[in-house]
Amino acid sequence: MLFDQLSFLVAIGFSGASLGITLFVMWSVGRSETHLLNWSAGLALLVAGVAFFSTVVERYDAGFLLASFLLLIAGFGLVNAGCAKFCTGRTDWTLTAASVAIGIFMTSGAFALGYSGIGTMIGNLAIGALLLLSARYYWFARAESPTLMTVNASLFALTAVSFIACGYALAHQGQIILTSRPANWAEEINSIMVIAALTGIGTLSLTLNQIRIANRHKSDAMKDALTGLLNRRALFDSDMDIAPMGTAVVMMDLDYFKKINDRFGHDSGDQILKAFAELIRANIRSNDLAARMGGEEFCIIMPDSSPKSAAAVADRIRSQIEVTIVQTANGPIRATVSAGIAVRSAEPETLRSLLNRADAALYEAKASGRNRVQISGFSLAA
Ligand code: GH3
Ligand code: MG
Ligand code: MG
Repeated sequence: MLFDQLSFLVAIGFSGASLGITLFVMWSVGRSETHLLNWSAGLALLVAGVAFFSTVVERYDAGFLLASFLLLIAGFGLVNAGCAKFCTGRTDWTLTAASVAIGIFMTSGAFALGYSGIGTMIGNLAIGALLLLSARYYWFARAESPTLMTVNASLFALTAVSFIACGYALAHQGQIILTSRPANWAEEINSIMVIAALTGIGTLSLTLNQIRIANRHKSDAMKDALTGLLNRRALFDSDMDIAPMGTAVVMMDLDYFKKINDRFGHDSGDQILKAFAELIRANIRSNDLAARMGGEEFCIIMPDSSPKSAAAVADRIRSQIEVTIVQTANGPIRATVSAGIAVRSAEPETLRSLLNRADAALYEAKASGRNRVQISGFSLAA
């Protein structure tokens, strides 16, 4: 024997328990990330399962061996539920309950019939299947964080293989009924694998969780809270130093918005801003960017456009807001908008310069009477 199995089990128990406690504390801080709770509850069952297994190493007892497997199956079931929640956003509890129930039923059945060896094989296979299911979740979600999620999927898969190997080794030895604890090459590899996986999967899962929180904060910081559109900062972060040929910038500014605020109140003004943002959203393509530049000023960036196509979109939005009646607590409101357009032609031009040109065109639209679209040079009157 390469090492003392009992010491290994104690190590697994303690590291599993501390990981479980860490996850529980992290869950209790926010309470919204339920996958952390699933994982910590799963680890609690796994630690209990390992404790039962340790007693079997000391002195063989089929009842304790069975208890150990039932706890491990339920524990890995909960871990899998957490993986599903983390990777797909939801847990299929029917699938989780069904796979755990099948594993528990078949393992207990074999033990009840006196075939403790077969029960142990089935238990190991059930655990392997649950771990493969977890590996699969990470594999299919790997686009979010390719390296870390692929490594996590691999660790789950390798651990699964090490459990399945334990079942295989018993079958290979023909141990249908056990009279002592299972001890073979596969059990040794499995103990090492479980220690490696606990550390690796634990660290990766916490890291992935933090990356996701950081990304969420980043995306919140790019969004305008009132309308949900991008904000000015996000637009200038959209790394387009020299705008590609055919990039159109539409600057829009609601007309006499101060008057609307003065007459109907700031909250009603906000309602107009939201309605206008909705209108923009409904009129742009998925690869266009729409942002609220501040106040009642909006900007749309459209790739692969011509002055004509950009003007058509802007004029559609202009004519739609003109006829939209927004019902507010202080009465119905109608607003109009002016727009200025600049399109990147053959000359290289930065996004900032395009924005300035669109702004100048917007100023012209305002000066020539509002409620109109102005393209650098000629005018599309309302
Ligand atoms: P113009 O046609 O020349 O654009 O006239 P305007 O009144 O729209 O322009 P002005 O720049 O004088 O006023 C803009 C107003 O937008 C002033 C400000 O109270 C209002 N505003 C800015 N941010 C918000 C906001 O978040 N909510 C509301 N309700 N109003 C805002
Ligand atoms: Mg205005
Ligand atoms: Mg303005």
